[in-house]
Amino acid sequence: MTSSTKAPPLYPKSHILAASGVAAVLSLALLVFPSREVEAQKTLINLDLDNSAEHALQQDDNASGESTTNKPSPFAVTVESDNADTQRVKTVTDEPKVDPLRHSIRVQSGDTLSTIFAKAGLGASTLHEVLNSSKDAKQLTRLKVGQVLDFKLDSDGQLKTINSKISDLESIALARGDKGFTFKREVIKPDVETAYTRGVINSSLFLSAKRAGLSHNLTMDLANVFGYDIDFAMDIREGDEFELIYEKKVVSGKQVGTGNILSARFTNRGKAFTAVRYTNKQGNSSYYNANGESMRKAFIRTPVDFARISSRFSTGRRHPVLNKIRAHKGVDYAAPRGTPIKAAGDGRATLAGRSGGYGNTVVIQHGQRYRTLYAHMNGFAKGVRTGSNVKQGQIIGYVGTTGLSTGPHLHYEFQVNGVHVDPLSQKLPMADPIAKSEKARFMQISKPLMAKMDSERSTMLALNQR
Ligand SMILES: [Zn+2]
Repeated sequence: MTSSTKAPPLYPKSHILAASGVAAVLSLALLVFPSREVEAQKTLINLDLDNSAEHALQQDDNASGESTTNKPSPFAVTVESDNADTQRVKTVTDEPKVDPLRHSIRVQSGDTLSTIFAKAGLGASTLHEVLNSSKDAKQLTRLKVGQVLDFKLDSDGQLKTINSKISDLESIALARGDKGFTFKREVIKPDVETAYTRGVINSSLFLSAKRAGLSHNLTMDLANVFGYDIDFAMDIREGDEFELIYEKKVVSGKQVGTGNILSARFTNRGKAFTAVRYTNKQGNSSYYNANGESMRKAFIRTPVDFARISSRFSTGRRHPVLNKIRAHKGVDYAAPRGTPIKAAGDGRATLAGRSGGYGNTVVIQHGQRYRTLYAHMNGFAKGVRTGSNVKQGQIIGYVGTTGLSTGPHLHYEFQVNGVHVDPLSQKLPMADPIAKSEKARFMQISKPLMAKMDSERSTMLALNQR
């Protein structure tokens, strides 16, 4: 087993995006399908909404929560759970006491648009009218915990407007007009400024990046930019240094987010790696080192994170199971059973199945020249079978000890034109070199960014010494 479990695994960006997509869907599901208790409340509001809203307002005028149980209330009659009752009391105290025609309601966990409407004293018929007014108006149902909805009612208690800020960059508004409700969504375009930051690693990249003021996203971007040259699970040492120039999104002087990393330098064990973002004439953006060489490689360095090399490539060694001198045509990575194994490059799985002493095995053909093999797997990842296409970094299976194997490890082979080579000694081919015709244009961007990092760094170091 490996000791370097502190640093997080490095996944290619597509996976992070996929993962956050899943998280987003999950959190959305949580908002759409709140707990049963709230479901109950919602049903009941639909049953008897206009009454209950009025009732809530009256209670608010009269007294504090304690009197509520004495009064016959549509809530008390229909809901059996005590829990729902206390929630109702809370709801009542949320109401602002100053102006009955204005309600500022903060979305709480479990709220739905109907519970929010009820808190504003609005009934189910109004809710339906709003939601049916336009397709866009349904955006109102996408509630975020903490979001504030400002309601304005007219003197008859009819809804006039709803305003809500979704984020620093986005707000929505609903207003009643002659022909019903109109929905508007306003997106503020932030100013983009550039910022410099620098950090020295003393325990993990994530902690030092946090200290340097980098967001989680920017830190992941930084790790991805250098992911082909630096193995963030294994290579990071105390004293490693990073610095970057990145885009900062600003609205009226306030930072509301970050954009892309424009340039970066990472010094790993004394060796400096540089990165510059460049958008080519076709509009595709990619990172190159300061001299314009591509940073992306056709193959990633290690197919498993959190692993230790337990056996190297050799032309003759004693096989631990067969006890005969045999060549070891690959590299063994010892890792706990179940550790994900990633495809080293884009390609097609020519095999995903059992293969004698190799046990559960995946073979990937990468174009004409290259082939990689992954053996002794515990099992295959979902969707990976013979004939399927795989993406670089995609999880294809999990470390195990199937076939002729003495313990959980990945046996990894690399072939060039049908000949086994040592994957560790391979000079891995680069992908997408910068076009010759764009080299000059690239250098016009790269040079000033590198110079700016140099000068910012000196300034920062001088300040720190004082
Ligand atoms: Zn092996």
